[in-house]
Amino acid sequence: MENNKLLTPIQYLKGVGPKRADLFKKIGVNTVRDILWLLPRRYEDRGNFKKISDVKEGEVLTVSGQVKACGLQRIKARLNIFKIAINDGTGILYATFFNQPYLADYIKVGTSIVVYGKIDKYKNKEFVVNSPEYELLTGEEINSIHMGGIVPIYPATEGVNQKLIRTLTHAAISEFINCVSEDIPAELRTKHELLPLRTALKNIHFPEDMGIMRRARDRIIFEEFFIFQLGLAIKKQNIENIVKGISHNTSSELVKEFEKVLPYELTNAQKKVLAEIVADMQNQKPMNRLLQGDVGSGKTVVAIYALIFAIGSGYQAAIMVPTEILAKQHYHTIKELVDKIGVKVGLLISDMDSDEKKNLINEIANGNVDIIIGTHSLIQENIAYKNLGLIVIDEQHKFGVNQRALLGAKAKEGLKETYPDVLIMTATPIPRSLAITVYGDMDLSIIDELPPGRGKIKTYWITEEKLNSAYAFIKKEIEKGRQAFVVYPVIKQSQASGLKAAEAMYKKLQAEEFKGLNMALLHGRLAAEEKNKIMERFKNGEINILITTTVIEVGIDIPNATVMLIEHAERFGLAQLHQLRGRIGRGSQYSYCILEGNPSTNEGRQRLRAMETTIDGFKISEEDLMIRGPGEFFGTKQHGVPELHFGDVISDIKIMETAKREAELLLKKDPELSQPEYRNLLISVRNTFGDKLQTMTI
Ligand code: ADP
Ligand code: MG
Repeated sequence: MENNKLLTPIQYLKGVGPKRADLFKKIGVNTVRDILWLLPRRYEDRGNFKKISDVKEGEVLTVSGQVKACGLQRIKARLNIFKIAINDGTGILYATFFNQPYLADYIKVGTSIVVYGKIDKYKNKEFVVNSPEYELLTGEEINSIHMGGIVPIYPATEGVNQKLIRTLTHAAISEFINCVSEDIPAELRTKHELLPLRTALKNIHFPEDMGIMRRARDRIIFEEFFIFQLGLAIKKQNIENIVKGISHNTSSELVKEFEKVLPYELTNAQKKVLAEIVADMQNQKPMNRLLQGDVGSGKTVVAIYALIFAIGSGYQAAIMVPTEILAKQHYHTIKELVDKIGVKVGLLISDMDSDEKKNLINEIANGNVDIIIGTHSLIQENIAYKNLGLIVIDEQHKFGVNQRALLGAKAKEGLKETYPDVLIMTATPIPRSLAITVYGDMDLSIIDELPPGRGKIKTYWITEEKLNSAYAFIKKEIEKGRQAFVVYPVIKQSQASGLKAAEAMYKKLQAEEFKGLNMALLHGRLAAEEKNKIMERFKNGEINILITTTVIEVGIDIPNATVMLIEHAERFGLAQLHQLRGRIGRGSQYSYCILEGNPSTNEGRQRLRAMETTIDGFKISEEDLMIRGPGEFFGTKQHGVPELHFGDVISDIKIMETAKREAELLLKKDPELSQPEYRNLLISVRNTFGDKLQTMTI
């Protein structure tokens, strides 16, 4: 942990007055510490420039030279181009800047300049670099921090140029590096050949060569991951040791009765996962388990077992789900199974008769209802539970941390000093190595097998011209007695979007292509009651084709639906497409997913191609992570763990795994981190996690 001197405001550094300090504030840099940890985005080897005579089309590179000519051209009202010719003694390279006429004021003939960008060829002869990054030189830079060697390039920021950041980091290193102290214990540094932090910081900004830069980077990432994993491990330890949970009876009479009424046998994967849950729930420590499984893998029945364990032990249990449709569906599935064994199930949603609701709330408070299923209604102020011993959260990514924590807090009120068991389910599974690192404070179960007798799903990506044959195909499936979904990205047509919309297409298809078939329109703006009615009719087979939006995305189970057509598929995210497709292929019939789309981006094409090539949710999410990057994918804020700034959970996964292993070993050795040599480390963990160390993640 650092010495307080690192908290010195940057305006006390040489060359920074209050005005520049203000600019830096905008990018979140206030103190010397902030500037030391503002890491370069990339590096340029300015000891060894590419000669202009050697550049080739398509290369991305840095060139240095003198401006030989320049000119500002107005092309049309909203477009002007500032074009310069750079000569380095071997040839001419042109650089163009769009709509930045002010550049003409300070890039002039004779100016020395460094440009970085992609080389294009113009009219088959001129080499041009469009909108390059650039830096002006004064001629004094040779062998300075700006030239003559490997030069750091920082994240671009308005009003703060590269030279200024470089000057500042250099000043901060010269004056303050000795105030940086070591977090990582010496034995660990030796074991993994980690650079001392001071050396790492110097070399991440101003490396001698790329080899040492990589070691510096690894060291800084290791530190970040290690603190992250140590925090998660401490959190887990706190929950296990300090917090008291319930020891549920997992072989009660009720469990035996339930097994008798269950119409099918669990798959091996379900059995394995169930055994893990049994061990957790029997244990006195509270369960905090993440259950991953692809759509349709049969997570629900595993969750029902957990509910029955809790109820058989004299407790209530709740399932919180993101939508009313899903709540209703779970209610029906569960009620049908457990009615026969005398378990009382309550459905708590906002769309209820007020007397009915009041009554249910009373029953929940009195403990007369065993299983409570609902949406956010479960955490409303007027709800109190008598003894909620198990919480199941379905589709966890749809809930914020606070909502989950609130339900936990409500349970605790009724249970007094004990914590409920928590089971979190997700249908956006991620590869195991990632899950154990990112959800490191939870235990992980994976259902990696689908129930038997599932039909296969074939996925086709088509363009708009083929839509008519897609409609014809749907009709054929319906003649065979099956049902279909047609999904649109928006409800209402608007000129701005130019997209086909569910409402209008419902009318059109009903009047033309699907004339005579039973159709219904389902979308998020309908009243809950209306939605439920439509789903009921679809489930009963009264509706052949459901025209819908992403409302249908989550958890709906209609085994007879075998076709899904998604129009404008390019408008949907990959996880979303996979969820949507999970609505078909649930019966024993062959199912077909048709994606109509014309993506304008490479990313869009990648998504649709991924959908065509695999139906494995784990592979899909891996692909999604690669396309979108981890930040957007995880929304770590939502999960209630600190954000990662330096490392990348995908490309640096090996470092993350090592960090996790070492964090666990260290805690085993010294659970309180009480040795003096761990003091800095403990402070860093506390600073990073704040009060999150004490609380359960649910
Ligand atoms: P998930 O929630 O994982 O998407 P569900 O729990 O909705 O999947 O299960 C999908 C379907 O599979 C349901 O219709 C369910 O009844 C059925 N199912 C679950 N487990 C089995 C099993 N072991 N054997 C046969 N069918 C099963
Ligand atoms: Mg327990």
